[in-house]
Amino acid sequence: MSEPSPTVSFFRSLGLSEVLLKVLEGSTYKRPTPIQEQAIPAVLFGKDVLGIAKTGSGKTAAYVLPVLQQLLEARWNMQSRHVPVLVLVPTRELATQVEAVFNELSIGLPERVRTMAVFGGVSINPQMIGMQGVQVLIATPGRLLDLVDSKAVHLSEVKILVLDEADKVLDLGFKEEVDRVLSLLPRKRQNLLFSATLNAAVDAITQVVLHKPEVIQVTPEPQEVVLIQQRAFRVPQERKGPFLRYLIRSMDMRQVLVFTASTHAADHVAEKLRRNGIAAEATHGKKSNQARQQALADFKNGTLRVLVATDLLSRGIDIEFLPYVISYDLPRSPKDHVHRIGRTGRAERPGEAFTIVTPEDQPHFKVIQKKMKQWVTLESTDEIDLQGA
Ligand code: AMP
Repeated sequence: MSEPSPTVSFFRSLGLSEVLLKVLEGSTYKRPTPIQEQAIPAVLFGKDVLGIAKTGSGKTAAYVLPVLQQLLEARWNMQSRHVPVLVLVPTRELATQVEAVFNELSIGLPERVRTMAVFGGVSINPQMIGMQGVQVLIATPGRLLDLVDSKAVHLSEVKILVLDEADKVLDLGFKEEVDRVLSLLPRKRQNLLFSATLNAAVDAITQVVLHKPEVIQVTPEPQEVVLIQQRAFRVPQERKGPFLRYLIRSMDMRQVLVFTASTHAADHVAEKLRRNGIAAEATHGKKSNQARQQALADFKNGTLRVLVATDLLSRGIDIEFLPYVISYDLPRSPKDHVHRIGRTGRAERPGEAFTIVTPEDQPHFKVIQKKMKQWVTLESTDEIDLQGA
């Protein structure tokens, strides 16, 4: 017998069955992407999954492959017009894309998998007629409810729910529809939720939907950080506040994200900045959802100059391009450092990331740099006059 191809070996190690491996061998997929590597075994295991991953990460196949496998293996016996797999998506475009991935990855399977994408803005009649026998229904929330109301489809036997681009679903104002859809589902089911960001709204819905989920976050690779210009300054503890103000003012930063080590420090730093005439707000887990959202909105639209955040919350801050990021306190781990500076210099535009390092922080800063394999010269700030900063 000939050796299996590397593609097959990579995907086999995730637990995918022979028929799917055959499909993959004939596809352009050569090896699993990081989200696939982590999500596929968890989904096959029957776990709920929370995947923080953007389009382009391979997140669609990360759930399509194990869902197909479950469909083939479980052979659920469904009553008429009951679907076993429901994929909720925010837009018509995503609905058709997801359906295409299901179809692409089920070509050549021993049994046909019946999929259908439904969305608003087109006639409902063909959708109603075509619903019989559908195994994978991909739907935008509004149209799905129309179909439910006209009894074209029933959701009470759904085995697997996928919420794709959950952040967008909520941004587009589908919260009520999603709540109603959830109320129509059986309690016992598997839930897979994917989102590009983890903001407060998504966090709230994950808490309702997911049961002990496997949380998978696809972090940016350190090499993505090369677009970012990094500088580090040695600043004694007692000069950190004035130096931060000096940095913001002297470089005329209009939009800057500042990181602190704790919620208390975030509040303190924001307060100090405000008292010195620099518009700043802290955002962290102890603030209300409304306060966090307001601060983020103000920061995005440019009315708030400085947003002070802790590492945990920063993951939910999705801003396409941030010119400046300042680490006021060092992060605990190198991974957090990558996350922080990865917030700037996106989309081919250079950004600048500054790190404030106290003499006591120096050994830890060395560890971070070693892990990242990037060395930044520590600049002295002793000569800078911070009087009046
Ligand atoms: P997605 O993030 O799901 O929107 O996928 C982005 C693109 O990556 C799609 O065009 C997929 O066909 C492709 N893709 C997904 N997984 C793989 C893989 N393992 N190898 C190569 N391409 C992939």
